[in-house]
Amino acid sequence: MKLSKLFTKTAKENPKDEISVNAQLLERGGFIYKNSAGVYTFLPLGWRVIEKIAHIIREEMNKIGGVEMLMPALVEKRYLDATKRWDVDIGFEAKGKEEKKAGFVLGWTHEEVLTEIVSKFIGSYKDLPFAAYQIQTKFRNEPRAKSGLLRGREFMMKDLYSFHESEEDLWKYYDEVKEAYLRIFHRCGLEAIYTVAAGGDFTASNTHEFQVVAAVGEDTIFVCEKCGYAENSEISNLKTGDACPKCGGEMIEKKAIEVGNIFPLGTKYSKAFNLQFVNEAGKKDYVVMGSYGIGLGRTMGSVVEVHHDDNGIIWPESVAPFKIYLIALDGAKKEADEIYEKILHGGGEILYDDRDDKTAGEKFADADLIGCPLRLVISAKTLQEKSVEVKSRQERSAKLLPLTKVLDLLKY
Ligand code: ATP
Ligand code: MG
Repeated sequence: MKLSKLFTKTAKENPKDEISVNAQLLERGGFIYKNSAGVYTFLPLGWRVIEKIAHIIREEMNKIGGVEMLMPALVEKRYLDATKRWDVDIGFEAKGKEEKKAGFVLGWTHEEVLTEIVSKFIGSYKDLPFAAYQIQTKFRNEPRAKSGLLRGREFMMKDLYSFHESEEDLWKYYDEVKEAYLRIFHRCGLEAIYTVAAGGDFTASNTHEFQVVAAVGEDTIFVCEKCGYAENSEISNLKTGDACPKCGGEMIEKKAIEVGNIFPLGTKYSKAFNLQFVNEAGKKDYVVMGSYGIGLGRTMGSVVEVHHDDNGIIWPESVAPFKIYLIALDGAKKEADEIYEKILHGGGEILYDDRDDKTAGEKFADADLIGCPLRLVISAKTLQEKSVEVKSRQERSAKLLPLTKVLDLLKY
């Protein structure tokens, strides 16, 4: 992509109405646009990051047998009436005369919708187990939508639901999802802590959260220094300095962001929608379910909270909008054009700063703000060495790479 063709622009100053680092850097860099409190557009650069995260999530969900689908965002009242969740004060009611009469809410979760669908297809233990997921926009009337992508009123979620013939089978799969989630966050550059948490709206038993340590986090967790066992303060009786209930190590209090949450649902939804199957003994039984969520925007915001410096974002390569940021300086435009074409056609992801109306200093500042892993600079000076200058976003020093070797950059 050429910067001269990207309609968005970077900003030097932080937006006045944003207090969190992720919102400040993402808005300044032209990744997101704030339409309303807690409602953001993903601009071209930001959408590329979301797509990278979505791709990682899909790979890991598919590895544990998840099948992808897409449910409607408009959820009719009868679904939530069945589980007495219509009056839970989370959703936005959909506007419009007809819709109002029928009663629709903009979907804030989809247990009910999928359970009904599944009940039309499932009959026997032979149909179980299975798991289905979607990546979809959810709507929640959040009272505290002030931390950028961390808490939106409209946000993208990956929601997976699993269906089993027994609790035992659910717990087996629950563990597979846990491992898949840890892989997803690790691949996105986040070390998530598996944390025992409260039941929430969904279930009376414990749920489990994936927490990323960050000062901006709204959650407080206690983590064992030795074995990593963690509890959310909402359910914990522990305090800093206490002995870990698992290994006797020391528990430490931390602020953290919940990037994922998984829930054993038991038979709550299958009972509400009469989702039954005939077991091996020929008897009818209720399907046992689990549900598993990850916020894509919140994950992206967390990456920025964890990976930045005073000059801007430092994207992990796996989720960077582009691998390479190429800067053309005076006297090297033709050669820069050639490198851009060569890398683009070699399959590389390259953002080309070909703007004529920007100074070298402005281009360097934007390279740091946007935060691609590698910066290439080509100038009259580097051309004297028949080279291009290569610098990693994380390091201070740069190296010269011969022009004949630029395609080597695609190897990593
Ligand atoms: P929170 O406690 O932060 O309000 P939640 O427990 O209500 O979140 P879940 O229903 O568990 O949220 O949703 C699953 C995942 O969706 C969360 O782990 C988070 O990553 C994401 N998510 C939830 N609410 C929001 C939101 N308002 N904005 C962005 N992401 C969200
Ligand atoms: Mg949660």
